Amino acid sequence: MTEFEIIKLLTKGLKSRSKGLIKGVGDDCAVIDGPSNLAYLLTTDALVEGVHFNAGWMTLENLGAKALAVNLSDIAAMGGEPKFFLVSIGLPKKTAAQTSRKIYSGMLRVARKFGVELIGGDTVASPKGIVISITVVGQCEKKEILLRSGATAPQPIYVTGKFGSSGLGLRALRAGVRKGFTAPFISKHLNPFPRLAEARLIAVSKMAGAMIDSSDGLYADLSHIADESGVGFTIEMQKIPVAKNLYSVANKLRKSPTDLILAGGEDYELIFTVKSDKRTQFEKFMQSNKRLKNCVRCIGRIEANPKIRRVIGIDERVLKINNSGYDHFASS
Ligand code: ADP
Ligand code: MG
Repeated sequence: MTEFEIIKLLTKGLKSRSKGLIKGVGDDCAVIDGPSNLAYLLTTDALVEGVHFNAGWMTLENLGAKALAVNLSDIAAMGGEPKFFLVSIGLPKKTAAQTSRKIYSGMLRVARKFGVELIGGDTVASPKGIVISITVVGQCEKKEILLRSGATAPQPIYVTGKFGSSGLGLRALRAGVRKGFTAPFISKHLNPFPRLAEARLIAVSKMAGAMIDSSDGLYADLSHIADESGVGFTIEMQKIPVAKNLYSVANKLRKSPTDLILAGGEDYELIFTVKSDKRTQFEKFMQSNKRLKNCVRCIGRIEANPKIRRVIGIDERVLKINNSGYDHFASS
């Protein structure tokens, strides 16, 4: 069973009973009604040693920083501002004190950088390996919240940053190739940077339709927007921004650059749509804002037919995608 099938099984038939619940399962954060025009955002993500990271690949400071950063990315995905966080941590007994100190040093560095405050958690012994689960609480003006369900045809699809680098870094780590030419990709994988500032600009502009952060891979995450919005999409490989030497390094490691770009995962970039009648205005806004101008690109458009999930290759031919989506990495 895949992660998505398990989530579906667990949450099938759940009905929202509370008046104050704006969005439950199915988005990057749960959204709860707050005072006056505000809503609270809640998200939780866990990292497990041997599954999400390998202790030999990264420092414990790195690990703490990444554990918080990936949660902040989910707050960014809603267009919100992170405020507080709680940390549950499972540690092997023998090394608990020194291990936790290092993890916290990295985590609190990220917390200071993005202005979030640690307000609690839980500490337990783990028989094998480190487990960290973080819950972040954020806020957003209700009118500015960007859900996965806000896409309609023919909205243009935009992304921040570059795709495939983190996935390539992970494959380099797995292959044990830690040379100069793989170093920038490995660093991308180990040090994700939540796009909180860009997300706020996009949300405040009120010109976006739907938004998600890319953790599963560009194709899968765009499919989450499509599923929740009941639409399809067309994107073009040649419009998707990638690192300069992604192709050459991927080829050296015998990895498919296309697979990495579409399904490498852990990019932690934003994928969003812009309201169809606001496109020109958004382009102008983007050009006038250095932060967005440098990193936001249009990669395709939303289709009305939910069955259309099309990727046009560099050679302008439509790529073959299997029924279950672009999941070439499911078993690697
Ligand atoms: P993300 O990649 O943005 O963190 P996930 O794919 O982990 O999102 O989760 C998708 C949705 O499923 C979210 O709304 C999340 O809260 C919900 N979800 C995931 N796992 C569980 C679970 N075990 N029980 C209930 N809801 C879950
Ligand atoms: Mg997310």
